[in-house]
Parts: sequence; C-alpha cells; structure tokens
Amino acid sequence: SRNSLTPAREVKTICPYCGVGCGIYLGIRGGEIVSVRGDPESMVNQGKLCVKGRFAYEFINHPQRLKKPLIKKQGKFEEVGWDEALKLIADKFSKYSGNEFASIASAKCTNEENYLLQKFTRGVMESPHIDHCARLCHAPSVVGLSRSIGSGAMSNSIAEIGQAGCIMAIGTNTTVSHPVLALQIIKAVKTGSKLIVINPQKIELAKHADIFLQHNPGSDVALLMAIAKVIVDEGLYNQSFIEERTENFLKLKKSLEILSWDELEHITGVEKEKIRQTAYMYAEGDPSSILYAMGITQHSHGTDNVLAVSNLALLTGNLGRESSGVNPLRGQNNVQGSCDMGTLPNVFPGYQSVEDPEIVEKFQKAWNMHLKPVNGMMLSEIFEKARSGDLKSLYIMGENPLLSEPDIQKVKMALENVEFLVVQDIFLTETARQADVVLPAASFAEKEGTFTNTERRVQRIKKAIIAPGDSKSDWEIISAIAKKMEKSGFDFKSAEEIFSEMTALTPIYGGISYDRLENQGLHWPCLDIDDPGTPILHQNQFNTPSHKGIFHPLEYIPSAEIPDEEYPFILGTGRSLYQYHTGSMTRKVNGLNYIDGEEFLEINPDDASNLNIKGGEWLEISSRRGTIRARSRINPGLLSGCVSMTFHFQEAPANCLTQTARDPVSGTPELKISTVKIRVLSED
Ligand code: SF4
Repeated sequence: SRNSLTPAREVKTICPYCGVGCGIYLGIRGGEIVSVRGDPESMVNQGKLCVKGRFAYEFINHPQRLKKPLIKKQGKFEEVGWDEALKLIADKFSKYSGNEFASIASAKCTNEENYLLQKFTRGVMESPHIDHCARLCHAPSVVGLSRSIGSGAMSNSIAEIGQAGCIMAIGTNTTVSHPVLALQIIKAVKTGSKLIVINPQKIELAKHADIFLQHNPGSDVALLMAIAKVIVDEGLYNQSFIEERTENFLKLKKSLEILSWDELEHITGVEKEKIRQTAYMYAEGDPSSILYAMGITQHSHGTDNVLAVSNLALLTGNLGRESSGVNPLRGQNNVQGSCDMGTLPNVFPGYQSVEDPEIVEKFQKAWNMHLKPVNGMMLSEIFEKARSGDLKSLYIMGENPLLSEPDIQKVKMALENVEFLVVQDIFLTETARQADVVLPAASFAEKEGTFTNTERRVQRIKKAIIAPGDSKSDWEIISAIAKKMEKSGFDFKSAEEIFSEMTALTPIYGGISYDRLENQGLHWPCLDIDDPGTPILHQNQFNTPSHKGIFHPLEYIPSAEIPDEEYPFILGTGRSLYQYHTGSMTRKVNGLNYIDGEEFLEINPDDASNLNIKGGEWLEISSRRGTIRARSRINPGLLSGCVSMTFHFQEAPANCLTQTARDPVSGTPELKISTVKIRVLSED
C-alpha cells in the first residue's frame, strides 16, 4: 500500500552510481529502503537526481544478493561459513605471495576499503600488483595532466561550471553519463554561457550548443592542435600567463607551424572555418572551461589527447581561476577516490610514488611491514600474466572485468588459468562465477565510509540498513583475511579508524576528518584542520617539478585499427542513461529494464539503408575477436561508417568485439575504436 512506502526514518548519504556524487536521503521502513529523494542542501545536486539516482535501488533488497561465502567444490558453489572460507583463503594466499599474486580494487567501494586493499596487497602479500578499472577510463588523465599541470583530477568544481563564459564539452556524452552535471551546463547556456560540443556523435548536448563539431573518431589530437594553431597564429593566446606560468611554448609554437590545413581538414573531417570559430569562442570565453570524458581517454593515444586538451587551457590562461580549467569527468561514484587511495600500481595513497625511497620508508614505518619499492603491473598486464600462467592468484573486490575489459574471451582464459581466484561482490557476477571462493559484500547502503566525487569532493556515506545474511563491508572482509593470516595492522573497529590512518599518511587528505565531512564534504587538497579545502587547483602554481604548466608538442597518430573491406565499420562503445556499467546493479531494477533492457547496435540511416536494415532486425556483429548478436536501431546522430553499442548487457557483450590496443603511456585500451562487420539475420 501507499502507506507502506512512507519511510519511518531517513539517512543522508551519497548516490552509488556516477561520479557526480549527488546527495540523497534513503527512506527506511521495516529494515528496507522504501524511498529515495535528492538532498536539497547538497551543493552538488541541490536536490536534483537522475533516473538512476532516483529509482534504481531495487538491487539493495534483491533476493539474489549474496548472503553467505561460497566455495567451489567439484565445479559447484556451496554455501559455507566465514571461518571455512577465510581459512581456505588464508592458506592459499600464504602460498602465493609476491609476483604470483595481484589484486583488483574497486571504484565502487569506499576510500577506506580501497586504502585497505592496497595496504593488504603491498604489505601482507608483498606484491606491487594492484590496479582497478580507472585503467579503462581516466588513467590517461592521471598521467597526462600530472605531466602538464601536475594533478590528474578536475581542476575546478561542478558549481563553477554555471559561471563559465564558454564551456567546451569534448568526448563526453554528459546528459547520459553525468546527468545532473549536464543540467549545470544546460542552465549555464540558458544564462548566457557559450557551449562548444565536440563529439563524433550528435549527442543530446549538441542541441544546446553554439558550435557543434562532429569530427572523425580518433582525430582529437589533430582537431585540438588545429584549434591551438588558430589561437597561436591569430594571436588569441594569453601572453602574460604563458610568460609567467608555463614552459615549452616555443616548442609547441614550432610544432603548430608545420601543420597543413588540408591535412587537418582531411583527418578531422571538419572545415577550417568551423575550427576557427571554435578557437575564437574558446579563447574569448573569459573564463572558459573544458569538460571531457571517455571520448578523449579511451584511445591508443589517450594521453596525447589529454595533453592536447591541457595545451589549449595553458595557451589561453584558463587554469587556476574560477569557472575555467581542465575537467576530466570521472565515471564511477568513487573512481576519483580509488585512484586517490593508491589502488594504482605506481603510487601509494595521495599519488606518492612507490619508487621514492623516503615515501616507501614512511609507509614501511607506519605499517610496520616490508614494502617493495617497485611499480606493479597494470590491469592489462595482470590479465596477460594470468593467461600465461605466471600469475597464480587473483583477488578481485567489486569489479566485473568479464564484461568491462576489452576482448573478454582473453579475460575469461586469464580467470580460468589462475590457480586461486577470490571475488567479493554483492551479486554472483559473471566474474564471480569463475571464482574459487566468493565472498558476500555489503552494499553502499549497509556501510559507513567515504566516496570522493569527480570534483575531488570527499563525502560521507552512512549505514542505513543491516547487510543481508552474513555479508560484510569490504573493509571488514579484507581485515578478516589479514587477521586469519595472523598479520597485524588490520585491527580496525570502524571505517573511521581506517580513514584516520589513511589521512595521517596522505598529505592531500591530511586535514579531513569524518566530523568535518558532516555537511557538504571537502575538496582535496586539504592539508590541515584549518584548511577549508581547494575547489580550484593551480591558483598560484602548478604541481609540476618546476611549478610551471608544461606545453607538449604532439603529432596525430592514427587509431590502431582502421576499417578495411572485411571489417568496414568503426564500433565505439558508450553508455545508456538507464543502465550502469556491467549492469550488476541496474539490471536488477525492473523499471530500468522495462525502459531499456536490451542491447542494440546503433547505425547511421545511410549505412542501414545500404544493408537493408530498417530498425529492429537481429544482426550478427563480428570483429577479429568475436561475434555477438543484437538488434538494430537507427541513429541519425552517427557518422556514416560508425556504429555504437553499450557494454551493459551480458546477453550481447560488446567487449567480445573490442580490441586490446592500448595507450602506451597509461595502458588504457582503445574502447572507442574497434572495426566490425555486420550481417543481417532476420527482420525482427
Ligand atoms: Fe546518481 Fe550520477 Fe544520477 Fe547524480 S547524476 S543521481 S550521482 S547517477
């Protein structure tokens, strides 16, 4: 009845889906979540929520939630008690330490849990090999922006977007992937901001744009260098900013001189005049803000793309001031935080190098453990080593690489080849099914902790209900394994205790405490208890060794796979507003599945007509890696020769088709460009 949906009490927490980090109130009655509403006081969302944030909570009370540890015996899972599961894990993990062991952390788990998993991996298992799905998304931002401006995170806050004179949204389908943040952009346009949208697909946001550039997929470096060329050739750059705050300008200038407009127009598919108008609008924005996402990073030259973006901001002095900046929009609820917590193979928490002897010494002393001062393997290398049999044991917390990684046949082989695989999650995901032991984890609504959203705002999540069955918070599980292995340093009574240990070792979080996060959270860097946090980075200097912003001359490099006669279409993977990542949560929500519960291959009308596709037919889509089936959907927003799918649906896993070519610097795969062929199977 209606009355049964009225909550008896409400708990203030944070949406578990995207990196915007909207504040929510969970309504509780009878030990279950019965309602959700936006937090009107949240500075992130002012009470607004998107469809996932507002309606997608059925998964929490879902009957398929894991409630007991599972051990695979003779190929079948059996429910067991914690003691039996922990004993088996402790025995096996004791056998496979060092280079035989790796762990995969989670952008969905809390900061405390990610901190603890890297402590466990580095300290207890003495393995440098830890990574997570940031490798699939913004690793090029972390590396590229560190090189150019010293910090691989959004330089400015979400609230500032509204006051930008000009917003350039490149490679971001914001209304789909960061819906509430997109509302800020649309509001800004209504109050006079100029909007430039650059995307190979005519996305929803393009309807609000003053300029829309539909460039060829993979041509971002050429396009951004062309914009930079206009800015330099026509004197639109900020001379005093360049002189006072940057290095390498002359090298960049020289690299732009040799670019030929014929070639740039050919590579990008965009006319010079439109590029000129874009350059003028961005350079004259005063201030101008660049927002970008996977369309920039998921390329075999993703780091170059990021450097090309920061070149523009440095040229025009759009850094270190309000409503300007370079703003990578982080995808998952806590992907910023999981990177901050050092679940990356080359850094401890707070981006402190694992190769710096002083830093290593600091962590050794604090943890009372021996640490190897070496970089570990990236996600792709972890799977390669597992496939070859060199990696014996893998511990995966809350990730589902069997749907999210490119070329998933290879990932399947890797998981099958590992001698001992432990997966902890809230459901028996595709990945968990491959495990030797599955551990039941608590969801975001059943635990305490912190998430850090895309704008570096650290926010508290709070326990609203009791976790089902015997499931436990991920941090409790990691601690229990370490204790079973008779290791000290994991005797935490609360998530807050873990947070305090972390902040003492992580200068950028140094001044943050649970008490200080009670209302609106805090933006890192927050160095001490008097520091109010830092919504705007780079105000006085850049965090590079010279404290200057560094220009990077670049060269256009074609994508790794180019269409040919056999595989004539370029497939790019994207997202649906109604589903989330590998669907482990949203596919459990009936309402969302009713609206959008099936994979489609989207295709341009001309290509569709050439193949005699009218929309709705079953298609067979094949690449050099595999074949899947999905229905067709006509999308006039796509360029001819380009097709698009999501990666949410295990029935038609698009990552069967995607390729493993990677950006050599960051290791991020080229998920935006894989070539495919299409065969029509039936008419409906
Ligand atoms: Fe949740 Fe993101 Fe939607 Fe906000 S925009 S409600 S954080 S999914």
